[in-house]
Amino acid sequence: MVDLVMERGAADGVALAGSTCRRCGLVAFPAEPFGCERCGALPTDLEPTPLPAGGTVRSAATVHRPAPDLPAPFVVVDVVLDAGPTVTAVALDGDGDGGVDLTSGDRVEGIVHDGRFCFVRVGGRP
Ligand SMILES: [Zn+2]
Repeated sequence: MVDLVMERGAADGVALAGSTCRRCGLVAFPAEPFGCERCGALPTDLEPTPLPAGGTVRSAATVHRPAPDLPAPFVVVDVVLDAGPTVTAVALDGDGDGGVDLTSGDRVEGIVHDGRFCFVRVGGRP
């Protein structure tokens, strides 16, 4: 997933590598490789677009099975980015105690922690 994330300065957080259709304006993440899924524009009509990784939690779920390099339990959130697309990623808490208390409507921001893109509550850093 690292190639989907564009790390910026610490103050700017990270951006996600999306695309914008020059014909219909659709913003997509990940960037569309084959053309616009809405209007059918060719890939040459798509503009690479860095998307700010801030958004709002749509849903959150606790996963009780471990994943590669990720001990259970962990929390996965669906986040509607302010830029439009929805992104699913692991959520971390801000104090490092392993508990994540995020629910629909909470504001989050994307960060890279231990090489993994994650969401944290706005202002919360692991
Ligand atoms: Zn389009």
